[in-house]
Amino acid sequence: MTATVLPPSIEAAELSWQDGVPESARFGDIYFSRDNGLAESRYVFLDHNRLPERFRQVAPGGHFVIAESGFGTGLNFLAAWQAWREHQPDHPATLHFVSVERFPLRRDDLSQALSHWPELAPYAEALLSRYPPLTRGVHRLVFDGGRVRLTLYFGDIVEAWQALAFTADAWFLDGFAPASNPGMWLDETMAQIKAHSGPGTTLATFTSVGRVRRALANAGFDMRKTRGFGRKREMLTGTLDTPAIPGNAPASTDAGADTPKPSTLIVGAGIAGCLLAHNLAQRGFPVTLVDSAAHPGAGASGNRQGATYVKLGVEFNDQTELALTALTFSHRFYQPYRDQGWYPTGLLQLAWNAKEQERQHKFLERNDYPEEVLFLVDPEQARALTGLQVRTGGLWFPGSGWLEPARLCATLCQHPLIDSAFGVQVDRLTNQGPWRAVASDGRSFTADRVVICGGHRSPALLPDGDGYRFKAIRGQVTHLEEAKVQAPDAVICGARYLNPAHGGQALTGATFDLRDDNPTPTRASHEQNLTELDAMVPGVVTPNAETLDRCDGRVAFRCTTHDYLPVTDGVDDADGAPVSGLYLMTGLGSKGLSYAPVLAEFLADRLTGQPGCLPGRLVRRLASARLRAGRPATSKSEKTT
Ligand code: SAM
Repeated sequence: MTATVLPPSIEAAELSWQDGVPESARFGDIYFSRDNGLAESRYVFLDHNRLPERFRQVAPGGHFVIAESGFGTGLNFLAAWQAWREHQPDHPATLHFVSVERFPLRRDDLSQALSHWPELAPYAEALLSRYPPLTRGVHRLVFDGGRVRLTLYFGDIVEAWQALAFTADAWFLDGFAPASNPGMWLDETMAQIKAHSGPGTTLATFTSVGRVRRALANAGFDMRKTRGFGRKREMLTGTLDTPAIPGNAPASTDAGADTPKPSTLIVGAGIAGCLLAHNLAQRGFPVTLVDSAAHPGAGASGNRQGATYVKLGVEFNDQTELALTALTFSHRFYQPYRDQGWYPTGLLQLAWNAKEQERQHKFLERNDYPEEVLFLVDPEQARALTGLQVRTGGLWFPGSGWLEPARLCATLCQHPLIDSAFGVQVDRLTNQGPWRAVASDGRSFTADRVVICGGHRSPALLPDGDGYRFKAIRGQVTHLEEAKVQAPDAVICGARYLNPAHGGQALTGATFDLRDDNPTPTRASHEQNLTELDAMVPGVVTPNAETLDRCDGRVAFRCTTHDYLPVTDGVDDADGAPVSGLYLMTGLGSKGLSYAPVLAEFLADRLTGQPGCLPGRLVRRLASARLRAGRPATSKSEKTT
């Protein structure tokens, strides 16, 4: 019944409607009760997991994890979110909701289904504004200023629970009835439920089928039958009754949950460091952020403009999945910053020469991307979208755009839990119980752990820093007076990028200069930028002496890795032993604005012991060990809780 679809798309749910209640054509079952689905959701899942009461008990900086099988219309999620708003503690705390969906609803269907519940309208609207494109893999959605985090895996249940790292406090087992959907209730699923539970984890399910009860009891849950909702006679609840497994305590039963939250020192206030600081502070964890420059976003993140751009590979492999996950997360993340430096103008990846045309052709043959992510445009459409006389079409990314990175960095650092210090050149890091960073002017900073977000200067702070395969690649951008260039209405990428004008200037770039460490802009690099731009969009600029005389620019050094993937991981010493409390988040190349939001989210998940927002297969790609020549590319930390 399941058609083969090209990656990265996933089959959507096919629905029929009766009195406003959606029914699955595939499974022949309803998504929520015709009697009162919301009341049933509250009765079965919230009340029988004792949620209001347990929400109130979450410690400062703590979290509570609900895991659900079958996201469907998101009704259970919205009901839990509403209850959290009402019963959450009045200190910083996070509700995590981890859910899986094999056949996600299309946005219109989701909107129609949720319109059934007027009292949930503000929640439904927020969910719809963040609802991800229907692509397989993990989508992290953040609400209420970070107090609610939804991890949505689009894919099969067993695959999801294998890929994700979390320990549930409470389970909502809400697949369709076992008779119509046996694939949801396999023994393998039960084993995964157990693997993601700890002592005191509870579960509730609307079904009372004997086989389900026995399987959960065999997995270690103390199972009880209780009265079902409305006309249903019975339902099941359970509590895991098992000795504590070190490191696998559900958050709400963690004995250490009340202790003060560990402090983090972040070295480097570029986009990576600022996003991580902001993310940790939002979760109630104190941060010290230091940088040698006079203000945040002064290094590679300091160009006047930067685009959210990734090059999606022809093959849908791990690299492509990471790029896509990062891109779509970044667009959700920047949504609230529209007045603070985010300009979602759309972006055209121009098929500007035969090679790129051929690549885009193959890319579209082998993949199927939702139009929310990208679609093919012909030359006429490309001209209408960009306002430029381009000769060819290309791939249009409607959710992309450009940012003023330093402005965003400055905004992100404003939080009572972030202490920032600038003009601090860290020379040395030592671990003496707490970590200590000593600056060249004698100042020192201590914290329980350190994250190095220092771009190409990171190796100097690493034990055995010379052993890492980092490259610093010079990039010079050129600022063009608006009068000297036809500035586009949207970002254009190809041999160079060209951004819409801002403050009377448009920005183009950047050069890609291996083995050049000249920090000063040169005329030769400007000439290269203008020549490449002219080749890409003829006539947009005249690369003559007069134009060159009047342009200025900026040089920054991108930090890249041998495989052009970022690193976000703990750090090992020269013998391969993990260095306790030392982390690295860098190697973002020229894609920092797209990659950093999801990587900051992922590292903050890990540093706070909260559910991870990336599947294990992508976590492995971010490992620091792969940068050490001759060492296997594995991560010590696939399981984060
Ligand atoms: N909790 C949902 C809500 O609040 O609307 C209702 C869930 S509905 C009863 C069951 C969901 O499980 C459906 O959306 C269905 O597509 C999904 N599902 C069925 N089989 C699955 C599988 N093998 N893996 C993941 N999801 C599956």
